Amino acid sequence: MTVRLILAKGREKSLLRRHPWVFSGAVARMEGKARRGETIDVCDSQGKWLARAAFSPDSQIRARVWSWQQDESVDIAFFVRRLQAAQQLRDWLAVRDGLDSYRLIAGESDGMPGVTIDRFGSFLVLQLLSAGAEYQRPAIISALQQCYPDCNIYDRSDVAVRKKEGLELSQGPVCGALPPDLLPISEHGMKLLVDIRTGHKTGYYLDQRDSRFATRRYAQDKRVLNCFSYTGGFAVSALLGGCSEVISVDTSQAALDVARQNVELNGLDVSKAQFVRDDVFKLLRSYRDNGERFDLIVMDPPKFVENKNQLAGACRGYKDINMLAMQLLNPGGMLMTFSCSGLMATDLFQKIIADAAVDAHRDVQFIEQFRQAADHPVIASYPEGLYLKGFACRVL
Ligand code: SAH
Repeated sequence: MTVRLILAKGREKSLLRRHPWVFSGAVARMEGKARRGETIDVCDSQGKWLARAAFSPDSQIRARVWSWQQDESVDIAFFVRRLQAAQQLRDWLAVRDGLDSYRLIAGESDGMPGVTIDRFGSFLVLQLLSAGAEYQRPAIISALQQCYPDCNIYDRSDVAVRKKEGLELSQGPVCGALPPDLLPISEHGMKLLVDIRTGHKTGYYLDQRDSRFATRRYAQDKRVLNCFSYTGGFAVSALLGGCSEVISVDTSQAALDVARQNVELNGLDVSKAQFVRDDVFKLLRSYRDNGERFDLIVMDPPKFVENKNQLAGACRGYKDINMLAMQLLNPGGMLMTFSCSGLMATDLFQKIIADAAVDAHRDVQFIEQFRQAADHPVIASYPEGLYLKGFACRVL
């Protein structure tokens, strides 16, 4: 008998709209005892079946929905169907944009809550973030092997959020060949090196692909400052766009070393590129004090907000760096600025940029808007899936 989670009265509304999460406060009682990650049935207060979900006893998100169909079981065939549906979108994107690397499974938005799978060439990099995803690890891996018999699989479930789910961190090869230290991938005509084993996330920020591409159109003859550069994707793009100079800043020396290699790999003039290991907050201030000026600044910071309590502080942080960036721009200069904090709504981010403009005593025109690339879709029932947003602003 499948264990049943019975919702408190009136708490089924979000599930009827197919939002895939059940919060602990919505649970009236459990009928039966489920193990961590096990598949359970979610029912309304009258006992009516609503969804099949994974049980997360340690998390505030007590259950995540796998299926809305009562006759569908969660097994290898289920994951094969999910992978096939996800691959359809990526096949089209891969042809459209000439990609060999993309997010294959974007969690909730691909009907697999807690699961991220990125493809880099022949490597599938797996990130299991929830108790349910971990419980299904063998089925997910079998489904991957069935759908991608020629691919190598590597696990990068070494992310701190697993602790909230009562899980240990894990990392290592699952099947096939070991990834090379640096794997070259293609992105809009650029070659970029990806460190699957020790790079950030699953090795590379695939979500910024379209914004990196857009940078090319803003770069001609410009002096560019690339803040939070990681492995220099924006720098390579700016050089391809004909910039006169690009300074990439990051606190990670390992990332900057790869950034330099990426510039060389694309046959670009390394003398136009500088790589500075420093704290962006500090460096922007010292540039301001020294009267440095730029024509294009890319501002792509890491996530500042993990929970709602941090939102106010994050707003101040975003305002601060954007104000400093505006002060460093020549009149008519461009600021490409991003927030990858899911809790930061697009309109709030826009207001912060407007506030930064007031404090910088500059007029700012919003001229283009960005979001995560199309291999990171947002399912309508889960708008939280939209986490990355950005603007190109002209600073007068
Ligand atoms: N723009 C990159 C992705 C940036 S991710 C790309 O297109 O691939 C954020 C980066 O910020 C990470 O590489 C991290 O090392 C760096 N970072 C975090 N805090 C920093 C700080 N205070 N100063 C400089 N870099 C920082």
